[in-house]
Amino acid sequence: MFTQNPVFIPGPTNIPERLRRAVDLPTIDHRSSAFAEMLLPLFDGIREIVKSRDAQIMIFPATGSAGWEAVITNTLSPGDRILAARHGMFSQRWIEMCRRHGLDCRVIERPWGEGAPAGAFAAELSADTDHEIKAVLVTHNETATGVRSDVAAIRQALDAAGHPALLMVDGVSSIASMDFRMEEWGVDCAVTGSQKGFMLPAGLAITALSPKAMAATETAGLKRAYLDIRDMAQANAKGGYPYTPPVALIAALGESLEMLRAEGLDNVFARHHRIAQGVRDAISAWGLKLCAASPELYSDTVSAVVVPPGFDGQEIVQRAAEVYGVAFGAGLGDVAGQVFRIGHLGMMTDVMALSGIATAEMVMADMGVQIRLGSGVAAAQEYYRSTTGAPAVAGAA
Ligand SMILES: *Cc1c(COP(=O)(O)O)cnc(C)c1O
Repeated sequence: MFTQNPVFIPGPTNIPERLRRAVDLPTIDHRSSAFAEMLLPLFDGIREIVKSRDAQIMIFPATGSAGWEAVITNTLSPGDRILAARHGMFSQRWIEMCRRHGLDCRVIERPWGEGAPAGAFAAELSADTDHEIKAVLVTHNETATGVRSDVAAIRQALDAAGHPALLMVDGVSSIASMDFRMEEWGVDCAVTGSQKGFMLPAGLAITALSPKAMAATETAGLKRAYLDIRDMAQANAKGGYPYTPPVALIAALGESLEMLRAEGLDNVFARHHRIAQGVRDAISAWGLKLCAASPELYSDTVSAVVVPPGFDGQEIVQRAAEVYGVAFGAGLGDVAGQVFRIGHLGMMTDVMALSGIATAEMVMADMGVQIRLGSGVAAAQEYYRSTTGAPAVAGAA
C-alpha cells in the first residue's frame, strides 16, 4: 500500500499526525458545556484567519459547496441578478448552483487560466445604475487552473461604481494557506471547507458573513432549511447547534487553528509561497508552462501544468497513482486532459514537494515526455536551499 506517500491533490490535503489524533474522540454530548467550550473559541479563531473583526462565522456539517449554497440562499431572493465570471471549474459550478436556485446569472466568459476580470466587472457595475445586480461572485483561487484573482480590485470596481451589491468570495482553496483580507477587501460572504488549508478531513463548510450580509439574511427570499443561517446563529449564540454537530471534526478544527497560530499566519503564507515557487521553478526547468496566464495570477496553493501536445494529463495522473502510488490532480472541465495539477497546500514541506516533483518526472519520463530526470528537482532544490532562512554555511558552494 502507498498510504505513507503524501498526496499532491489540491484538496483534500495531507492530514498532519496531530490532527489525525484530534479527530479520534469518544462521544461528547453536543448539548454539554464541554461542547460549548470547544465551539465558541473557534469563531474568533476563524475571524483571525479571514481577517475580520465583525464577521459572523458559521460551521456547517457539509463541504465547501454547501458553503456556496448557504451564502446565496441566505442572502438572495428568486430572480435576483448575480454577476460572475466563468474561468474554471469552480467558478462554473458556483454559477451553475445559482442557476438552479433561479437566480438571474450575468456571466462573463474568460479563458481558463485568466482571473476574474475587475475591468469587465467595473463596466457591468457602473452600467447597472438601477442596482439590479445583488451579488458579485468571485473565486479567489480557481483550483482547476491554479489562478488567484485580485479580490481587492473587484472591491475597488464596486466602490468606484458606488454599487451596493454583496461581494461573495469562494476561498475554499486559499483561506488558511494564502492571505485573505475579508474586512480590508470588503468581502460580505466568504466560504471555505475543512479539507484544504485547515488540513482536516472533509466535512465542515465554513462561512463568514459581514454585518451587511447578515442584514440581508432577514429579507432573503430563497428557500433555506438545513442551511438556514438564522437557526445556526441562534443555536451558536448559546454554544450549540440546531442539529447534531460533527463534534470530532469541530474539536480538530480547534487544533488546526492552534497549529496555524503557532506557526504564525504570515509564516504559513510565506511557506506556501516558497513551496509554490520551487514547484514553478521545477516546471520551467522541465520546459513546461503553467495554465495560469501570467505571474500575478500564479496560485501559491496549486499549480496546473500544461502537458505537451500529444500527451494526456489524465494519463499522467493515472500512472502516478497506479505505478508510484502518488496522487496528483487531473484537469477538470475545459482543461481536462490538457493539464495535470500539483496541489501544494495545507500540510506541505519543501521535502514533500521535492518528492512530488521527482514523481512527476518519473511518470513523464516513462510516458516519453522530453524531460531530463532530476531537472525539476534540481531547480526546486536550488530555490529551497537558497531560501530556507537559515544562515549559509561558511565555505559551502
Ligand atoms: C474544493 C473546492 C470547492 C468545493 O469544495 P467541496 O468541499 O468539494 O464541496 C469549491 N471551490 C474551490 C475553489 C475549491 O477548491
